[in-house]
Amino acid sequence: MSHMHADYAPAAPPAPLPRPGLTLSCVVPAYNEEANLAAFVQALAQAAGALTPHFEILIVNDGSRDGTHEVAMGLLADLPVRYLALSRNFGKESALSAGIDHARGNAVLLIDADFQHPLEMLPAMHELWLLGYDMVYGVIADRTAESGAKRLGTSLFYRLLNSGNRVKVPPHAGDFRWMDRRVADALKALPEHHRFMKGLYAWVGFKTAALPFVPQDRAGGASSFNLRRLGSLALLGLTSFTTMPLRVWSVVGSLVAAGALAYGAWITLETLLFGADLDGWPTLAAGIMLFSGVQLMSIGVLGEYIGRIYDEVKRRPSYLVARDDDHSPLQGAPHE
Ligand code: UDP
Ligand code: MG
Repeated sequence: MSHMHADYAPAAPPAPLPRPGLTLSCVVPAYNEEANLAAFVQALAQAAGALTPHFEILIVNDGSRDGTHEVAMGLLADLPVRYLALSRNFGKESALSAGIDHARGNAVLLIDADFQHPLEMLPAMHELWLLGYDMVYGVIADRTAESGAKRLGTSLFYRLLNSGNRVKVPPHAGDFRWMDRRVADALKALPEHHRFMKGLYAWVGFKTAALPFVPQDRAGGASSFNLRRLGSLALLGLTSFTTMPLRVWSVVGSLVAAGALAYGAWITLETLLFGADLDGWPTLAAGIMLFSGVQLMSIGVLGEYIGRIYDEVKRRPSYLVARDDDHSPLQGAPHE
């Protein structure tokens, strides 16, 4: 398989499983996608229909403020669509979870509504699934179009996220995925409220294969992920998938303590050898400022984790469905 990403795909393909006839659920999260949704869902129906006559398209309207709702309603009449409208904007991670929870196919495809994920890759994903891979995901092969700052941030994020973790999250792999029913069921069973999907995909494991792709430009509309939103997503990923930021402070604390001990010993020695000398106010002031800063930073990191714990123990659902128009031919399928 020359088109597979060498770093993350197992060396040899797994033994082919007897896959049942494909019934495919395509999950399309949509937030302010009035410009793309109709054309995209039609194109998706074509691409999915080429693989199997038994497919459904789950449009998850994530609290859009534009005409996405009307566009989706217009699609219900003549396409195998199930339309879920969340009660407000919950974010892409929650919209994807809603889609996975309601999908009924024996395979589930996650794909963006803005044409950035190439539909031409569906046959290759299908083929790898038939070969026995449980999850096939797209890896962005070329990020040179992105700004230097964003690329630096991304690589720093993945370095931090994967430092000393048993579960490695493959860098540059997004939410463009084909997963087997077993993977979808595993994801459904994870109870967390804050769902950092890229981490959860990696956490559940299973046999995975990566397919490199170059994302196309957004067809219409604008991306909803600005720097602030990406930053908070990164924070969610770090706090829910690594305790490294907590451990860093144990190391920093030990180093500082060791330094203070050495300095104290040196001052004692100096006083004994050269007599008392009460200089050193600037050192004192700088030291106090530095170390209170370090302490506040470590408390801030603790606070991030405690806030996350607080959010989780409230046990609120990660999304609410306000409306469910089920025109899918997979109604009554065994899952859900
Ligand atoms: N999206 C969503 N909820 C949000 C933001 C985005 O469901 O709060 C959807 C959006 O409609 C699209 C996908 O998630 O289908 C990716 O979003 P976007 O294109 O804005 O992100 P980017 O491709 O720039 O990372
Ligand atoms: Mg996009």
